[in-house]
Order: sequence, then C-alpha cells, then structure tokens
Amino acid sequence: MSTMDLMLVAALAAALGSVLLGRGSTRLVRALPPRLAVPAMTLAAVLLAACTVGTLLLVAAGYALGWGPIAAFGGIRPDQLHARLPIPGALAAAAGAAAVLLLLRLGFRAVHLTVAAVRSARYCRRLPGRARLVFVPGDDAVAVSGRPGRVMVGRGLYRRLDPVQRRALIAHERSHLVRRHHAYLQATELAIALNPLLTPVGAAVRFAVERWADEDAVQRIGDRTEVAMAIATAAVRAARPAPAGAAGAALAAARSHTVGRVQVLLADPTPSRPLGPVAAALALALVLLLTATGALDLHHAVEAAQPAAH
Ligand SMILES: [Zn+2]
Repeated sequence: MSTMDLMLVAALAAALGSVLLGRGSTRLVRALPPRLAVPAMTLAAVLLAACTVGTLLLVAAGYALGWGPIAAFGGIRPDQLHARLPIPGALAAAAGAAAVLLLLRLGFRAVHLTVAAVRSARYCRRLPGRARLVFVPGDDAVAVSGRPGRVMVGRGLYRRLDPVQRRALIAHERSHLVRRHHAYLQATELAIALNPLLTPVGAAVRFAVERWADEDAVQRIGDRTEVAMAIATAAVRAARPAPAGAAGAALAAARSHTVGRVQVLLADPTPSRPLGPVAAALALALVLLLTATGALDLHHAVEAAQPAAH
C-alpha cells in the first residue's frame, strides 16, 4: 500500500470508527460495569477524535511540505516528495480546512468549559458554611464541581425521603465528586467538539456516569430498591432547572436517564458481556496503528525527499 493510500485508509478508518462507536455507545456502556465503562468510553472517544484530526492533518501536511516556500525552508525536493506522495491539492486543502475547523470547535468548547468551571468554583465558594453537604431551598440534589466541590440538597426533596433514601441520595452525589465524573464528561465533550461524529457518545457517557454513582450508592447502603426509590422521588420533584450559577458543571441526581437507571437497579445485576467492548478495543487499536503508520510513512517520505539531510 502506498503512503498516500495508507493515509486515506487511516482517515476513513478513524471516521468510520467514530461513527460505529457513536452508534454502539449505548450498548457498549451497558455491557461493562459503569466504573470501567466511563473511563473506557471516554478514552476511546478522545483517541478517535485525535486520530480523526491527526489523519486529516497528515494528508494536508503531505501536500503542504512540498509547497514552494515550505519545501525550500525544509530543504525538501517537491518533485521527489510528490512522486512518493501524490496528494491532489484539492484533497489536501479540504483535509486542512476540515482540520482547522474542528480545531477551532475544540478551542471554543475548551473556553466554554473553562468559563463554566470557573463559575462553578465561584458558586461553590459562595455557598454557606464549609461542609461538603449544603442544604438549600428547593427540590433538587446536585453535585457542583469546584475546589472542593459541594453537594447541594434541596430541603423539599430531603423531607420527602426516608432516612435510608436520604443516605442513598447523598452517596450518589458524593460519588460524582469523589470519582471526578465532571472530568470524564468534560473530556467527552471536548472529543465531540473535535469530532462531531462522536456526538452520541456524550449521552452514553452521561448515562454511565449516573449508573456509576447509583452503584456507589448501592454499595454504601446495600439496597438497590431504596436507591431506585430515592432516584425516582428526586426525578418527580426535580421539575425546576438547576441553580443558574451551578448549571455549567452540575450533575443533578435525577435529571438524566432516570427510567433506564431505575430499570437497571431493579433488575438483577447483569454479568458483564465483554464481547462488544473487546471488538471495539481491537477496532480502536487498528485505527491507532493505521494513524501511527501513516505518520511514520510521511516522516520517511519527507526524509527521502531531503537530499541534503543524507
Ligand atoms: Zn447523578
């Protein structure tokens, strides 16, 4: 396979892998325990996003390095590079423009997430007292990320739960802070900004994060039904939006995938079905291998077109 063919195959494999990960993300996160599903899915999304943009940049660079001023600066003979890497100018321009656009999206998203994190930290500092747990007016329970993060529980909701359900709710919210669930969600959002083909992964990771916190609550109180009851009650009560200052980086107890989570909690704990995740991991490894080989081949092609370097 020529270097150019390899680059194009790598770019297509990264794009196809992203589409397949998006389409299969709901089933994949349900096939693993949530404590594994969250980091695995987040890592897969980040790597696929990087490979997608990386392969686009390789195609653009393969052409740009043979372009007049750049070639002269690098001591590259354009005819030799083009002979080994005959990338059409239009294809390189399209790949470069797509890569720039996606990197700009990443930049905007990163700024947005940083502003939300700063607002959230400021909101945490303004909450009364110093304890992690803060009671506030209202009917919601929210984990707000910050340094340190805080758990806000609405007094209205708290009054409607029995003592075991109260412990379950607080354990769920504490889990979000202790396990740094906000960071996984932010990393997934950045991956999606870099590669919109991964958009469905966002909902899957959000579901898995909530499941992880639910399972931590079960571990804490030892009763799946009570945790399900606490979530269901919180879902019924949480009709109002999250507090304005905390909304950017808040994880509410029952705003996300409540029915699915209650169903899983009330069913028997399902054994993990690793076949899908293993196939996904192998496909991801193939995309990584193709991208790395494409980069290495480009490096060799440039070296071969630099007579002065030999
Ligand atoms: Zn939650």
